[in-house]
Amino acid sequence: MAEEKKKLPYVLEKKNGWEVITSDEREKAYQLSDKYISFMSKVKTEREFVKESIRILEEEGFVSIDKKESLKPGDKVYWNFRNKFLTAAVVGKDPVSKGVNIVASHVDVPHIDIKPYPIYEDSELAYINSHYYGGIKKFTWPAIPLALHGVVVKSDGEVVEVVIGEDESDPVLTITDIAIHIARKIQLGKNISEAVPGENLDPLVGSVPDTELDEKEKDKVKKYILKLLYNKYGITEEDLVGAELQLVPAWSARYVGLDKGAIGAFGHDDRVCGYTSLAALLDIEGVPQRTAIAMFFDKEEIGSVGNTSSASYFVDRTLADLLYLTGESTDARTLMLAWDSTAVLSADVDAAYDPLWKGAYDPSNSPYLGYGVTLTKYTGSGGKYHANDAHAEFYAKMKKLFKDNSVVWQTGELGKVDEGGGGTVAGDFANRGADVVDIGPAVLGLHTPFEVVSVIDTYYSYKAFKVFYEKYTK
Ligand code: MN
Ligand code: MN
Repeated sequence: MAEEKKKLPYVLEKKNGWEVITSDEREKAYQLSDKYISFMSKVKTEREFVKESIRILEEEGFVSIDKKESLKPGDKVYWNFRNKFLTAAVVGKDPVSKGVNIVASHVDVPHIDIKPYPIYEDSELAYINSHYYGGIKKFTWPAIPLALHGVVVKSDGEVVEVVIGEDESDPVLTITDIAIHIARKIQLGKNISEAVPGENLDPLVGSVPDTELDEKEKDKVKKYILKLLYNKYGITEEDLVGAELQLVPAWSARYVGLDKGAIGAFGHDDRVCGYTSLAALLDIEGVPQRTAIAMFFDKEEIGSVGNTSSASYFVDRTLADLLYLTGESTDARTLMLAWDSTAVLSADVDAAYDPLWKGAYDPSNSPYLGYGVTLTKYTGSGGKYHANDAHAEFYAKMKKLFKDNSVVWQTGELGKVDEGGGGTVAGDFANRGADVVDIGPAVLGLHTPFEVVSVIDTYYSYKAFKVFYEKYTK
């Protein structure tokens, strides 16, 4: 037998995760993916993420922080901020003032919202007037089945939850595209970013006039839709003003590829990090040394604004509550000291190298599907504008943690220099003084209605978060 060639200690070997994963872990990866697929098939808004996660947390013994008068190591709690920003924590052995370990993801995703006056009629067809949210490629939204998810709050405060288009027996909505036969001037000759104007993202919601109404009555198709909504949900046109209803693809998450190596879903960015960090928190073995916290934010896709985003004071509230309930000082200095010693994984996705679109990437510094979780040193655009650039010292600690614990990882940038770019919640934690680095699986088709991640990268994201919670100390 030929003697195995010696490894060169000074050369970094990059390996496909499928080549190195053990059969035991491969099985675990598919167990995680199965659960993730069913989660993603029903969770399609940030509110639904928060609600379903609270259900899971409570099943695992987590209790609302409002019910606690004190906390001790091993206690499990969660904070629900306005049903859109969720935090969950397992209290560790070390004092909170010595820093905590946070995995922060965002659970809002690019989608289409309804306008405040949502339903209108034109040419005896009824539509939902819409306004898109976040960075969508508008031309990817027509001609797919859409579901409507969200809440309508009635004047007496009753919150009506709406989900239409998910049950097999439900009708769906869809945005119609122009027939190619007559699209030459109105669409095909245009710049692709203008091919489907934002005002055209209105789905067809009805085509049947209410024949019970008087002959002279106007907008009978729209009125029939309002009647159907009133009969099913007890909501009026006035109730719809200001409602939060989102248009999302009506399909389920699925394995992708004949080998089932990947997962396709609406909203991997960033619920793949949301789900895997939640799973990692639930799976912490024993009482962690440092308090382990998972944060799930809203509004990242529109610049982290508002009181459910990573820029909100609720982030500090979490640490202040922990200090207070564990009997520590809650003065500003103690809170600042806690932040100074805190480590944050800004858990968000990167763009995977796509051989169909080679020109957009630097192949030597792109994350590849199946090569493990991506530890992104910096984000931003152009000359690293608005980047969070992780300190080399912290980055090196994370590399060592992953190496010591068999977490398959890679690095990469978001495309070529000057090709574009993006940001994450990392900056908000860096501003508070914490050590922070971006990390998460790489995605194909990022920000499209059906994004693709690898089973392997999803698993190693989960494992990275788990070892971070269990083993990272400053
Ligand atoms: Mn993201
Ligand atoms: Mn995004």
